[in-house]
Amino acid sequence: MKHKGLEESNIIKLLKQKKKSDIGFNKVLSTMCTKPHPIAIKAHLMFIESNIGDSGLFPGTSSMENTVITSLSQLLNNKNAYGYITTGGTESNIQALRSIKNISDSTNPNIIVPESAHFSFDKISNLLDIEIKKASLDNSFKVDLKSVKKLIDHNTIALVGIAGTTEFGQIDPIESLSEIAIKNKLFLHIDAAFGGFVIPFLDKKYIFDFLVPGVTSISLDPHKMGFSTIPSGVILFRNKMFLDNLETSTPYLTSKSQYSLTGTRTGATVAATFAVLKYLGQEGYSKYVEYCMYLTNKLISGAHKIQIYPLIDPVMNVVVLQVNKPEEVRNYLREKYGWYVSITRNPKCLRIILMPHITENDVEHFLIDLEKTVEYLK
Ligand code: PLP
Repeated sequence: MKHKGLEESNIIKLLKQKKKSDIGFNKVLSTMCTKPHPIAIKAHLMFIESNIGDSGLFPGTSSMENTVITSLSQLLNNKNAYGYITTGGTESNIQALRSIKNISDSTNPNIIVPESAHFSFDKISNLLDIEIKKASLDNSFKVDLKSVKKLIDHNTIALVGIAGTTEFGQIDPIESLSEIAIKNKLFLHIDAAFGGFVIPFLDKKYIFDFLVPGVTSISLDPHKMGFSTIPSGVILFRNKMFLDNLETSTPYLTSKSQYSLTGTRTGATVAATFAVLKYLGQEGYSKYVEYCMYLTNKLISGAHKIQIYPLIDPVMNVVVLQVNKPEEVRNYLREKYGWYVSITRNPKCLRIILMPHITENDVEHFLIDLEKTVEYLK
């Protein structure tokens, strides 16, 4: 840091330069985030100084958090769930497993997650000293129930199901996982970080939430398909016992205790999430999901025309395309045409997320560039 500060105009110039080298969302088909809704940005800026970590100083922000938790609990079929606004799927998953670990009395606990689980579970293993056992997938890339059953032992404390897998957009068989969990007296956490704001709004109905009796907690992210600002996630627990097991007393703050992982916590994303939920309502979210699924189907039918086929029929707005030399295809698409796509781990395929910032025109141009790329790399 220099001794003397710079003029504001110089700082702005610097910031503009830095912003120019960010990719943002243009031609980005690899991200599960999107441009926040304008109402979310307005709300975020209005509450930029709010610290909900000291909630007694910000009762207005705190009441918005309560409203968000109530609304999302209702969306996921529990009138009385408990939770809070986190920084995203990673924190929500950590907190769910932390609470479960605190409740269980195993000295050497393990949890069973599908092989398709997000890498946040590897962090959880390291942070919470929980062994993570990975169950294999069936041929539709859902968790294989036989593999789950085989992995359960007397130290298993929980199962994890994914509703909207990061790589395939697939939904695990949550009702069957629930039966296994109940039979073996295990907790069942559902990672719906991506799917939580998609599945309730799809035409086809899937049962993945608190309607399923064994489900004890759910993560869902407003900063993905929820159109809120980054960083916003939500963790919901079936009842208060789970939240109580996260409680830490906060002697010198305005509140007596906290449940959150972080201490100081932005109220800006609370306001942003509150505003966008109120603004869009279920009707608004349904329209966005419909739009994303329209793009998804357009991409699939265009891909078929150039003899490129999906690994599975897409369940949500995640498309996995089988191509030869996927890494080379990804690199060429980026270097030659400026498209950002990613690659699944196993099998290696092109992974494309059709988020609301993508246009029909983008899909058409992408298909043209993909055809040329595949032809070039033959
Ligand atoms: N869970 C799932 C299913 C995800 O897809 C992701 C991120 O893509 C996460 C958890 C982690 O979310 P975050 O990056 O917000 O921590």
